[in-house]
Amino acid sequence: MTVNITLADRMDKIKPSPTLAVNAKAKALKASGADVLNFSVGEPDFDTPAHVCAAGKTAINDGFTRYTAVPGIIELREAVCRRLADDRGFKYTPEQIQISCGGKHGLYNMGQALFGPGDEVIIPTPYWVSYPPIIELAGARPVFLPLAEDNDFDINEAALQKCVSEKTKGIILNSPSNPTGAVFSKAGLRLVADMALKGGWVVISDDIYETIVFAGQSVPHILKVAPELKEQVIILNGVSKSFAMTGWRIGYSAGPQHIIAAMNKIQSQSTSNASSISQKAALTALNGPQEFPVMMRKAFAERLTYIMGALKEIPDLTCVAPKGAFYVFPNFSAYYGREFKGKKINNSVDMADFLLDEALIASVPGAAFGTDDFVRFSFAASMAVIEEGMRRLRKALASLC
Ligand SMILES: *Cc1c(COP(=O)(O)O)cnc(C)c1O
Repeated sequence: MTVNITLADRMDKIKPSPTLAVNAKAKALKASGADVLNFSVGEPDFDTPAHVCAAGKTAINDGFTRYTAVPGIIELREAVCRRLADDRGFKYTPEQIQISCGGKHGLYNMGQALFGPGDEVIIPTPYWVSYPPIIELAGARPVFLPLAEDNDFDINEAALQKCVSEKTKGIILNSPSNPTGAVFSKAGLRLVADMALKGGWVVISDDIYETIVFAGQSVPHILKVAPELKEQVIILNGVSKSFAMTGWRIGYSAGPQHIIAAMNKIQSQSTSNASSISQKAALTALNGPQEFPVMMRKAFAERLTYIMGALKEIPDLTCVAPKGAFYVFPNFSAYYGREFKGKKINNSVDMADFLLDEALIASVPGAAFGTDDFVRFSFAASMAVIEEGMRRLRKALASLC
């Protein structure tokens, strides 16, 4: 007789992603031949640049196919240090860098190295989908800090104060943000820095979208606003977004040496190291010509201009103009309570479902990011798809009563 194996208690805390339902449905529709336009993707629609791919092939041909040092090959960690110095003016040594299997894995290592039961970690909301589970898997508790649309999704002092307790151990910043495209102001970051200094928190700065910033926008950094906080800051970045390398799985972290050392311990007993081949490719990405991120930024900027224009034409929709990344996050709440063919749309999941069923456009409901008033549209799609998508969106919304 077989028994039904029960799962670990921690599995109760991890909820299935609300994006999955819409995604599965979009895929099924597409497979059945429907002309689905996909605005749900969280990765650039460009191919990895050829010179980067060539470096990966060379690594294979040269037999660079074995385990590497746990924190990553020294040349790549040196290249990361150079980029942090040249691009941002931050001084780090290779011992203060970890190369991980993607940025998400770097965050996972941080969570395991820094947080545990009894700790609280503040997560500005709307948040990236993986932050709360990474905190929960470490046994700690996420505390959600609401960011208001009418404050351009910036940090508000009173709202931040409300999140603080004697258990607060850290905060995760993401600027430019996925899903809003918003950037924290200097004043907002100063508030965080002052509280972090007072409370002894660690500040995780997820800079993964730092190269995708639109003309005229500057992205203040917590370490520029508060250099005195350096021993409490850990930077997360990677090549997934900047070089369209999501499948290569290379992320990097920069922070105080004892924290990086702890993360290396976690990595040594889990994944050992990031792929040797991908590390060589990432090395070429960081050290080679930098036209690619510039080209991508320009393409995204053109698309954004079009999308913002199209969204303005749609009644009862508001949308804060993104300053970076490749998402728009319009507020659909004025449409909640309206009906289509007798079926009421009550929330972001209903809205994303309706848009998929009736307009064949796939998006991600705001509920996935902790904010139900919104729906996220990625503009990692061709201009033709975007134009048709915006036309369908407007028509679908007009059909609600
Ligand atoms: C994409 C993304 C990452 C990292 O992605 P990886 O593919 O794991 O490198 C981290 N943070 C945010 C907010 C992202 O959108």
